[in-house]
Amino acid sequence: MRIALVAHDKKKDDLIQFVTAYKLILEDHDLFATGTTGMRIIEEVGLSVFRYKSGPLGGDQQIGSAIANNEMDMVIFFRDPLTSQPHEPDVSALIRLCDVYQIPLATNMGTAEILLKGLEEGFLDWRLLEERRSR
Ligand code: PGA
Repeated sequence: MRIALVAHDKKKDDLIQFVTAYKLILEDHDLFATGTTGMRIIEEVGLSVFRYKSGPLGGDQQIGSAIANNEMDMVIFFRDPLTSQPHEPDVSALIRLCDVYQIPLATNMGTAEILLKGLEEGFLDWRLLEERRSR
C-alpha cells in the first residue's frame, strides 16, 4: 500500500512516536510524507519515505493530487485542531479528496492505530478499495 503520513507541527512528536511503534508494519509499505514530517521520520525512525513539499508550501495538495490519480491508498494525517493553519484550505481539500475517492483517512492516533492494525490483519483488502474507488 502507498501510505501518506502528515502531521501538523504540534502533532509531529505524536506522529514520530506512532510511526516508531508501528515501524514493523509500515516498513512493508511505500511511505510518502510532507516535507518536514518526512524528514523527521527518515532521521528519527529510519524509515524510507518519499518527501513531497512542506505542507504550507503545497505538500498537502501534492498528496491530494496523488489521490486523484489513484496513486495513494491511505492517509494518516495528525491534525492540530487547536491551532489555526495558514494552509487550512489545502488541509480541507485533502480530506475532501479522501472522501471523494474512498481513501482510508485517519486524522488522529486512535483511528490510525485501528487502520494499521486492520492493515496488518488484512482487513483492508486492496481489491475492495480499488472497487470502491472505481464507483
Ligand atoms: P510539514 O507539513 O510536514 O512540511 O510540516 C505538514 C502540514 O502542515 O501540512
